[in-house]
Amino acid sequence: MSLHLDTRLAHCGRPAMNGESGPVNVPIVRTSTVRFKSIEAMHAQVRKRAGGLPVSTYGRQGMDTHRALEEAMCELEGGSRAYLTPSGLAAISLTLLALTSPGDHVLVTDSVYQPVRKLDAGHLARTGVEVGYFDPFTESVEERLQPNTRVVYVETPGSLLFEMIDLAPIVAACKARGISVVVDNTWASGYLFNPLAMGADISLMAGTKYVSGHSDLMLGVIVANDASHASRLTTTYEALGVAVSPDDVYLALRGLRTMAVRMQQHEHNAMAVARWLADHASVDRVYYPALETDPGHALWRRDFRGANGLLSVGFRGITEAQLFAIVDALMLFDIGASWGGYESLVLPATSEKLLSHRSWRGSTGVLRLHIGLENAADLVNDLSQAVGAALKS
Ligand SMILES: *Cc1c(COP(=O)(O)O)cnc(C)c1O
Repeated sequence: MSLHLDTRLAHCGRPAMNGESGPVNVPIVRTSTVRFKSIEAMHAQVRKRAGGLPVSTYGRQGMDTHRALEEAMCELEGGSRAYLTPSGLAAISLTLLALTSPGDHVLVTDSVYQPVRKLDAGHLARTGVEVGYFDPFTESVEERLQPNTRVVYVETPGSLLFEMIDLAPIVAACKARGISVVVDNTWASGYLFNPLAMGADISLMAGTKYVSGHSDLMLGVIVANDASHASRLTTTYEALGVAVSPDDVYLALRGLRTMAVRMQQHEHNAMAVARWLADHASVDRVYYPALETDPGHALWRRDFRGANGLLSVGFRGITEAQLFAIVDALMLFDIGASWGGYESLVLPATSEKLLSHRSWRGSTGVLRLHIGLENAADLVNDLSQAVGAALKS
């Protein structure tokens, strides 16, 4: 019987019955030490781990709680091996460290999450790994690949402006040359899109966002689909001594149980806000791929199962001071980075921040909104009063 993802998210990673009964949820297993029944049992477990199996021989690797979330993340992403990291950015860093050596070149789409550039400038450059950025809308990936390119790193849709990037031609060009394709899948969080199914080698995400869903933990997840990428990730994972608290792992599992209903409500509310904004006389453009007028809409329809609560909005002929005045006049939207929780958030992205997106054509910048699970009409009313108040002056 093939089951819908919503059903699998409700059932995956649950503990086996112990005899006639058992708990619904996996316990939070806190331990720094894994103990063994015998030397033979210890050696067997060590051999299994060395052979690539996700079994635990030491506390850093976590036990039942970690295995349950790893299993659930493989289910969500359609992969065979998952790695948990203390943050989404740690997942990105670990993956790039695992896949590159001095002299290698990494090609990155220019609309990625900004801290990737800090990793580049602050670490990769120093280790002799060269990172280049390209605009997938005006440049062909083939022309930017070099003989030493090892990884193409894509985030789709892009950060801040949510540019839909077609993964198919990128995967095709890389497959032919044995280059690894890594996708930051935080926007879709596995629920709306599966890069591995489109031929990407690694899908990673900030579990901090929609997997958690409640703005109460930091987590990264890396999912691979083949033994060679898994083996490289395992080596670097162990070398870096990465460990994640079982409490955070438990909260992430808890978040997954309600992900289906949350995602549907985020999309419903964001669509209501996006439509209202798109009709507003002062609005220049709404950046939300689920909107029919968005340039990425056809691609989003082709590849994605739905949309989330993130959108950006640019206003016509507005000063930066007015943009900030809208933010300050909002009552239900807290000012804050991050997103994916139940609450609505706003963050201005000034033009300076958007210059790295070569397709950016605006002047004043945009407001990035995360549309939470509040009542959609209340959110629209709040935006209406804030835009009215700020643009009147
Ligand atoms: C938030 C975010 C990250 C980083 O995740 P943290 O858990 O905050 O480190 C990475 N990529 C994208 C697209 C994000 O939005």
